[in-house]
Amino acid sequence: MTVDNRHAELAERFGTPLYVFDLDEVAAARDELRATLPEGSALYYALKANPHPDVARALRETADGEEGCRAEISSSGELAAALEAGFDPAECLYTGPGKTTGELSHALELGVRTFSTDSVTDVRRVGSAAADRGLVADCLLRVNSASAAAGTGVRMTGRPSQFGFDVENLPEAVRELAGTRGARLAGMHYFPLSNAADEEGLVAEFQNTLEQATALAEELEIPLSLLDLGGGFSAPYGVPGGRASYPKLRSELTTALDTHLPSWRDGSPRIAFESGRFLVACAGTLLLGVTNVKVGRGRTFAILDGGINIFGGMSGLGRLLPASVLPEGGPATGTATLAGPLCTPGDVLGRDVEVADLAPGDVLTVPNAGAYGVSASLLAFLGRPAPVEVTVRGGEVVSASRLDYRRAYLEPDGAAR
Ligand SMILES: *Cc1c(COP(=O)(O)O)cnc(C)c1O
Repeated sequence: MTVDNRHAELAERFGTPLYVFDLDEVAAARDELRATLPEGSALYYALKANPHPDVARALRETADGEEGCRAEISSSGELAAALEAGFDPAECLYTGPGKTTGELSHALELGVRTFSTDSVTDVRRVGSAAADRGLVADCLLRVNSASAAAGTGVRMTGRPSQFGFDVENLPEAVRELAGTRGARLAGMHYFPLSNAADEEGLVAEFQNTLEQATALAEELEIPLSLLDLGGGFSAPYGVPGGRASYPKLRSELTTALDTHLPSWRDGSPRIAFESGRFLVACAGTLLLGVTNVKVGRGRTFAILDGGINIFGGMSGLGRLLPASVLPEGGPATGTATLAGPLCTPGDVLGRDVEVADLAPGDVLTVPNAGAYGVSASLLAFLGRPAPVEVTVRGGEVVSASRLDYRRAYLEPDGAAR
């Protein structure tokens, strides 16, 4: 199987399985998405897609002094990654349905000031953690709304979800916030869909969200300093191809914003969007070594040195897309089932995939593997070491590292040792 020379050299140097993240491509995706969104809007990078600090840093830094991405985080670990990447904690957005008092206090201590809240309990927790420190936290109300495909109008609600407030519970949330010391209502947060390749559908979704948000803000007197309209920008996952393109999105959304929120251009409210996969998927390549090739009941199996322990682990659990990679390389000469090294029949990255002749020692290239890789996989299952992750810029290696997990013992009283 042909691997491009650069990748072959890196696989030789660092061994496989190996992730290679091209930081120039990360920056290119960021610039492309910024050019797709209304000028002057903010863009949050959802660190869950790939929390590698070099990758996150490449999204924050811009060459021309333009605003880069802000960080959208959901745990102490993602906060640590964001800080390592140099993000300003005051501009981070902390989200998630299960924020504990401990992690909220920690985030506030480190300078995070904006939280997306999902329930009344959540609002109270944010408020008391902030008040304990003599602070006031900005709270967005996350709204569980139906997607545009389900119809239009303010009255509609989404499917049952652990995320966000149902629309009919917003008045209670607004009241709660008004009476909560340490919390200030600062706006609204929507994230109705993910991975929407169809431009018309995505634009309709944003228009719908915008209409609902402005109507609700007026009806319930929600002060909007920040309105996060969500994302849904699409990119391939472990198969060839490129990022989706949305040539009309900027102008259509700009028009919609001018209509519904005439002072948005002055930052009132600041409009924000979010993205994970679009920003990083195409910058990553996964190189997998072929350990063995065998035939079982007439089917060819290529056994690889990485499987759902390092890629598509969430797919293995029925999340995201079904795990089926399509390697790039020389012309296909037959088909093989690409199995990982784990002792479970579920460790398959692709069934009857068209590949060139494979032999032990060959290296397979999985394209567009920059999002939902290592951190979204079953890393500890069966105890293999995490893959090496190399970042490159201008063709030069910036860093090479490997996540390390080990058992940390606690004292009998529960304290860390
Ligand atoms: C997961 C998530 C994202 C990123 O989703 P992508 O499909 O990778 O763009 C953005 N915002 C929120 C709130 C999320 O939970």
